[in-house]
Amino acid sequence: MEKTSRIPGFYKLPIKERVKKVKEFAELNDEEEEILLSMDGLDSDTADRMIENVVGSMKMPLGIATNFLINGKDYLVPMAIEETSVVAAASNAAKMARVKGGFRAKAGEPVMIGQIQILDANENAMEEIEKHREEILELANAQDKILVSLGGGAKDMEVRKLSDEMLCVHLFVDVRDAMGANAVNTMAEACAPLIEKISGGRTLLRIISNLADHRMVEATAVFDRDTIGGSKVVDDMVHAYEFAALDIYRAATHNKGVMNGIDAVAIATGNDWRAIEAGVHAYASIGGYKPFTKWEKNEDGDLVGSIKIPMAAGTIGGITKVHPMARISLKILGAKSSRELAEVIASVGLAQNFAAMHALSTKGIQDGHMRLHAKNIAVMAGAQGDEIDRVAEVMASEGKIRMDRAKEILDEIRK
Ligand code: NAD
Repeated sequence: MEKTSRIPGFYKLPIKERVKKVKEFAELNDEEEEILLSMDGLDSDTADRMIENVVGSMKMPLGIATNFLINGKDYLVPMAIEETSVVAAASNAAKMARVKGGFRAKAGEPVMIGQIQILDANENAMEEIEKHREEILELANAQDKILVSLGGGAKDMEVRKLSDEMLCVHLFVDVRDAMGANAVNTMAEACAPLIEKISGGRTLLRIISNLADHRMVEATAVFDRDTIGGSKVVDDMVHAYEFAALDIYRAATHNKGVMNGIDAVAIATGNDWRAIEAGVHAYASIGGYKPFTKWEKNEDGDLVGSIKIPMAAGTIGGITKVHPMARISLKILGAKSSRELAEVIASVGLAQNFAAMHALSTKGIQDGHMRLHAKNIAVMAGAQGDEIDRVAEVMASEGKIRMDRAKEILDEIRK
C-alpha cells in the first residue's frame, strides 16, 4: 500500500492513536513508540553528555505536520515548537498545495565554506597560496578520511583580499550528510600552519562560515485559486508579498513566519537552528534585506510561491544520532540525505509562509491563533485540570479570548 501523509482527523485523535498512526507510517519499533508516549525523550545521562553543567531538560512539544507531498513523496513532518497554530497552519497549507501536486524542491551539493584569516602576509601571498592549491586541499582532506570516502571533502579554495593587511582563504568542503561545522573547522585549523608558511603572514581565525551560499535549496508550489478562496485572495496575497519586498519592517516578520516552520523541523531533527538562522538572514541581506520567498500569480490565476535559501542541515553528526527524539524524528521524516532534508525544510518554510500570508490577507491571524492559544490564556488566568478546557471553550464560543474574561469565567465556574 502507498504511504500517504493525508490522515484526515489526525488532530482530533488522542495522542496514543496519533503515535500509532505515525508508528505505522514510519515503521517505528515498540521502543520508539514508548519514547514518544513517555513525553520524555531525553534521559539524564544523555543530557549530561550533550552540554555542560546540566541540571535538567527543557521540554517542548513535538507535533507532526501532515499532508506534505514533496517531489511526489509523502512526508509526515516532525516539528518541535512551543508556539500555537504553527503545526496546524503547516498541515493546512500542505493540504492546499496537494491540489496542484504539492511541493517541488531541489537542493544543490552540500558545500560549506571554511574561513582562514591571514594578517600581515607577504605582498605576493595571494598568488603563492593559489600556487599551493593542491597541497592545501590534500592536507584538508587528510583530516577526514570518512568524508572523502563518501565522495565529500575539500573540493576547492579561493583567496580573498579584505584589506591591505587582511586576507582570507575559503576552503569549499562538500560535507555530504553532515551539517559540517566540526568537519570544516578541523580542516581549517589543520591548513592554517601551511598557509602561514606560504603567505609569510599570521593566521588568526579558522572557522566555518554560516553564510552557506554554496549549499542552496529551492522549493516551489502552486496554490489553486479556488482552493485558497478565489482570485481576490490570490491578488491580495501578491500584495502582501510586495509589502515584504518593499519594506524591511514587514520583511522581518514575513521571514519570521518562514522560520516558524524551518526552526521547528531543525529542532526536531537535532539540527543547529542558530546556524540555519544566521545563514538565511545573512543570505537575505545580500544587496539589502529581502523576503526569503516570492509570490506571484500565474497565467491560470493560481498563486505560485517559491523559496531560495542556504540550508546547513544534516542527517548525521552533531546530536542527530545522540538525542533520542532527533533520531526518532529523522526516522519519521525518512529523509535519506542532507539534501533531501533540506528539500523538506524549505518546503515546510514555504508552506508556513503561505499559511501566515493567507490568514493575514483574509481574516487576520488572531482568529485562528487565539482560538488555539485559548488554553494557554486559561492557564495564565489560573485554570487547572478540567477548568482549562471549560474556560477555553467558553472564551472561544464568545470570541473573546482575553485574560480578563478568562478570570471572570473561572470565577463563575468555581462559584
Ligand atoms: P560531526 O563532527 O559530529 O560529524 C561529522 C562527521 O561524521 C564527518 O566529519 C564524517 O567524518 C562523519 N560522517 C559519517 N558519515 C557521514 C556522512 N554520510 N556524511 C557526512 N559525514 C559523515 O558533525 P558536523 O556536522 O561536522 O558538525 C556539526 C556540529 O557542529 C553541530 O552540532 C553544530 O552545532 C556544531 N558547530 C557549529 C558551528 C557553527 O555553526 N558556526 C561551529 C562549531 C560547531
